[in-house]
Parts: sequence; structure tokens; C-alpha cells
Amino acid sequence: MKQRSLVLHLIKVSELTNLSIKTIKGIGDETAQVLEEMHIHSVQDLLEHFPYRYEDYELKDLANAKQDEKVTVEGKVHSVPSLTYYGKKRSRLTFRLLVGRYLITVTCFNRPYYKSKLEIDQTVTVTGKWDQHRQTITLQELQFSPFKKNQSIEPVYSTKANLTVKAMRKFIALALNQYGNQIEDMLPQSIRNRYKLLSRETALKSIHLPRDHGDLKQARRRFVYEEFLLFQLKMQALRKREREETPGMQQLFDLNQLVEFTNLLPFPLTGAQKRVVNEITMDMKSPYRMNRLLQGDVGSGKTVVAAVALYATVLAGHQGALMVPTEILAEQHAESLIHMLSKVNVNVGLLTGSVKGKARKELLQSVKEGNIHVLIGTHALIQDEVIYKSLGLVITDEQHRFGVGQRRILREKGENPDVLFMTATPIPRTLAITVFGEMDVSIIDEMPAGRKIIETYWVKHDMLERILQFVHKELSAGRQAYVICPLIEESDKLDVQNAIDVHSTLVHYFAGKWKVGLMHGRLSSDEKEDVMKQFSVNEVQILVSTTVVEVGVNVPNATVMVIYDAERFGLSQLHQLRGRVGRGDAQSYCILIADPKSEVGKERMNIMTETNDGFVLSERDLELRGPGDFFGKKQSGMPEFKVADMVHDYRALEVARTDAAQLVNSEAFWQDEQFAKLRSYLDATGVLKGDKFD
Ligand code: ADP
Ligand code: MG
Repeated sequence: MKQRSLVLHLIKVSELTNLSIKTIKGIGDETAQVLEEMHIHSVQDLLEHFPYRYEDYELKDLANAKQDEKVTVEGKVHSVPSLTYYGKKRSRLTFRLLVGRYLITVTCFNRPYYKSKLEIDQTVTVTGKWDQHRQTITLQELQFSPFKKNQSIEPVYSTKANLTVKAMRKFIALALNQYGNQIEDMLPQSIRNRYKLLSRETALKSIHLPRDHGDLKQARRRFVYEEFLLFQLKMQALRKREREETPGMQQLFDLNQLVEFTNLLPFPLTGAQKRVVNEITMDMKSPYRMNRLLQGDVGSGKTVVAAVALYATVLAGHQGALMVPTEILAEQHAESLIHMLSKVNVNVGLLTGSVKGKARKELLQSVKEGNIHVLIGTHALIQDEVIYKSLGLVITDEQHRFGVGQRRILREKGENPDVLFMTATPIPRTLAITVFGEMDVSIIDEMPAGRKIIETYWVKHDMLERILQFVHKELSAGRQAYVICPLIEESDKLDVQNAIDVHSTLVHYFAGKWKVGLMHGRLSSDEKEDVMKQFSVNEVQILVSTTVVEVGVNVPNATVMVIYDAERFGLSQLHQLRGRVGRGDAQSYCILIADPKSEVGKERMNIMTETNDGFVLSERDLELRGPGDFFGKKQSGMPEFKVADMVHDYRALEVARTDAAQLVNSEAFWQDEQFAKLRSYLDATGVLKGDKFD
């Protein structure tokens, strides 16, 4: 019964969505076809085809006008226009115009007919380019009447084929006129009142036909909130559904034992580590399934947090799995976890491709019987052959590489463990709560005490010789260095070639002095492992590599990171690479070799030299690149907003998120008439029914 009423409402809400654009005067088959190509099918679509910018004809005070700025002024004609012809058709007309206290010159090209129309003392409105030095406006538009307020800002629309902006304005104005009173508002009055938001009808009118900047601002405010609220409602409804439908485990453990474990660590936890440990263990204790993202900059100490959480699940009588993207990382993690957890008698197993035959069989048997408490490995951890006695917690490191698919595999295996995603790629909070909106987010925003800042330098290519001498100096002091090779976008093959070239150059340069290793994605995992081992025991002093060393590799004796063509890397990636050094006690250095052409490129290099803080960096990166580009093309799931901007409107985003969470968890939302439209909106998105949503 309830479902039915939702559907009925849906039809009502979408009346204008069913109405053909051909019901608008002037739109025939031909125009309709062009509009269809622009994905404008219904009157609703047309009304929601927002301007991408505005022509601003608002009167300008010349005292504030800048050189070459486009201005609109109103004034009185002060001199008889003088007309000069040069050539048959080309002419120049000039006259003096008194604008307030300013007597300026107006120049118009190729419009001789104005001469007979302009009279002394007549009031005209002039739009054009302002030349401050010559006190002259070069005319673009002239109106023989006093300035009218209602035409001061004109919308500019994207168009296609021979459809003009002017025609678009006309059609939209007609649509507003004809159907304006049928525009439905999904936002209930109560919410609109709370934030003093315009009704949808008024806001649509203002966004298309603003009278002034105030109008526009209010209209924007309304749509920003609407877009964010609808988006967050989906996220929060999804989160609620996941919570209610996937039974979680209530993992009860003895807190004292957990505290004892942390006391065994060689250092006290930082405040941030303590806070996130609490957030995580609270989730584990709750009857809900944990779905949490843990963000922490490189070196912020996520592994320890993981160890504590894994120990908690073991104390609660379950097993834990730690999944990492590469075998090298799996080994490194295993080493440090065995070191920590063996003190409390937790058995840690390592499952990689190199565990074969009998050893593998035995390991899997132990996992099945529950003798292995914590299993570490790559994706192999969740495959069919691995059967857990009772899987309580799955932690993945670098969540970008662990997607929805893997979570589904787990669920299909009948496991419903708590899930923690760890990432060292700091994502600005605004993006985190948007892209991972249905997750909870924990952030380690504090570094362990005494960390040295990695000194970062930006140099040009012609400094290579000096850089290599510097590398030599560090190596002579017993240190090691990484050299990261030029990145060729989307060409793994060329990247490898680059690495091979740089490697042979350095082999020659340092012949007889230092050993240079080579690492790239085309090596077999055995070969990679060999190289990494040689580097980690300092048999090889310089490691030339593609970005495969980006993630997690830990060689504390390495103190120099040289990155070729640094302008080709994203800021987060550079930061990740830089995080490979500075892992020991010694002062470390990062040298960015770059000749960026653009201002943004230079700015990015500067940011790298100015901050070591991954969160600061990611915020700046987001500002520079905009949310769409932040993750690169591959990352899907970035919502597209028409009006809202996640960076600039982040406060509204936070407000909408809180509101959405509060709404979906309130009874009123699911019952009150005033929320019926929002409910039918949610219903239409499919998140309530459990349709796939991403
Ligand atoms: P990441 O977050 O990059 O995974 P790790 O967990 O590898 O960081 O920690 C980096 C280093 O910092 C390790 O050597 C670890 O032992 C050390 N560490 C972690 N937490 C602390 C702490 N609270 N105080 C001092 N050192 C710490
Ligand atoms: Mg780590």
C-alpha cells in the first residue's frame, strides 16, 4: 500500500518531465531534434538547462572599473558625434558622454547610423570595453533609453548546431511563463523556512532571469542545497539500508587486554591514533557492520591502528584479514604485525603467490581450523580456496584498489565481517564525505612526535649534474636513494622504457661506485622481490623505478627521492612518492625535477616545497584541479552537480549531509506528507529497493 502511494506521487512530481518540449511556442521538429541531442527532452529538462555564465550589464561605477573590463554605464550625450570613414564600409564614430562626474569618450566602429540618432543631452546606456588610460569605452552595445534594471544580467546557455543563445533564452523564458506555476518543489516548506530558501519556482525564475546579483545568489543557494541534500539523502538512505539489512557482528572483547597490548608497543599512541582506535572498536562492538574509511598520511601510523583492531577481533574470538595491493607490501606488513602481535600470542599467517604446495595447504587448513588468527595477503585472501573459521574483520590497505566487487565476494561467501579501509591518500574531507558518503570516516591528522620534515626542492633539468653529486654525497654517508622515472600518461610500455634508459644512464655515471637497481611493472613478481630485497639490505644503493614503489614500501635507510618530470605527476602521487623517504631517523630530501609550463604547474611544484602535510596538499590540489579531475578519469562515483561546487560550497555540503542523516533516521521522514516528494525521489533512485548504486 505504501509503495503504491509513493509511485502515485512520483507521477505527480514528474508531470513536467513527461511534457514534450514541442509544447513550447516556437519549438518545432527541427529545434526539438537539436535539443534532444543536448539531452533536453522535456519541459523539465529545458527548465533545468541552467546558464553556464551570465552577461553582466549591471551599471558600473567607473571609479571601480578596471583596465579593459567590460562595463555598462548610463550617461548623457555631451557632444555631437563625429564620424570618420576609412574605406567604403569602415567607419569610426566618437562622441563624449557624461557619466556622473566623468566626461568620457565613446568610440563605435562601423555603425555610422548612430550619428543621426544621437542627440545632445539624450540619456543612453552604453556597454563596452573600458580603457582607463584614454578614458574611452569602445562600444559593443548601445541602448537609447535609461538603464532598465530587469535586463542587467543576461543568461548565457550552452547551445548546439544553429540554435542560438538568444533562441534558448526565448524558449526558456516561454517555458517559465507557460509552466512556471506547475513547477513542483521537493523541499518541504519546513526546510525552506529553516534556511530561508527560495521556492523552486522562484529559484528557477531567478536563475534564468535574474534581476540582479542578489537574485542570483539566492537562486544559487537554493539549488546548491537541493543538489547536496538529494545526493546526501541517497547516501544516507543507502547507509541506513546497509546497516539494517546486513547483519553485523557484535564483537565483544576485553578492553583491558587491548590496553595492555598498546602498552607493549615501543611508543605511546598519538592522540589521533587513540581517537580512531576508539571509533573503530566502537563500531566493532556495535551490532552494525562496520564500513569505515581510515585516512592517514604516509607515516601517520596506520599499521599500529590496524594491529590494535585485529587484536580486538581476535580477543572477541574471531579472525582478521589484512589485504594489501602487492606481495612486497604483504611481506612488510606481515613482518611488522608478527613483531607486534606475537607478544600477545596471536598467530599471523602470510598468504602470497609464493606460498605453494604443501605449505599452502597447511596454511589454509590452519585458517580453516582457526589456528591462524590473522591472515595477511593480497586479493587471494578472499578467494574461494580460503575458508575462515570465523572472519570478524577485514582491513584493506589503499582502499582505491579494493572495490565493491570484492566486498560482494565476501558477502557471497557468507562472511559479514566488519570492514575497515585504510588509505594514505589524503582526500579532502569534503570529497571523502561525498564520494564515500555512505561510509564513516576516521582521520589520523597527527604525526608521531619527532618526525623530521622532508626537505623538498624544485629544480630544473639543467641541474641534473648537481643532483647526482648530491646523491653521491648522501650515498657516501651510507644512505640510499630512489630515482623515479618520467611518467608517460597511459603508457605503461613507455614508462618502462624510460626507467630502463634512466637506469643505464645512472649505471654508467656511478660505475665502480654504486650499484643501481631497476624496478618496473613489467618485471615478474619474483624479479621485483629480488630487487626490493637487494635494495632493502643495501646491496643496491640506488633504486630506479616507475611509480610501482608508490605504495607502502619501507626502506628506512633511503633518504633521497629524486623525481623526474615531476610536473607530470599529481600532487597526491608526488606526496606518496616522497613518503618513501623520511622513514628513518636521518634527515631526508625530495628533489623534484620539473619544467612546468603552466602557472598551475608551477604552483603545484611550489606547494610541494611548502608543505609536508598530505591533507593541506590535497586541499590545495582540489582547489587547483577541481573535484572532477581530483581522482583522475578512472575514479567513478564522483557525483556531478549542476550548480553546486564541492570545494566552494563545502559548508552547505556538511549541512546537507547532517540534515540528510537526520531525516532518513527520523520517523517523520518516512510518514509525513511534507516529505512525500523526497521519498518518491529516493524511491526512483532505487536505493530503497537495494538496486545497485554507485
Ligand atoms: P603508515 O600510516 O604510513 O602505514 P606506519 O604504520 O607504517 O605508517 O608507521 C610509520 C612508522 O611510525 C613506523 O615505523 C611505526 O612504528 C611508527 N609509529 C607509528 N605510530 C607511532 C607513534 N605513536 N609514535 C612513534 N612512532 C610511531
Ligand atoms: Mg602503511
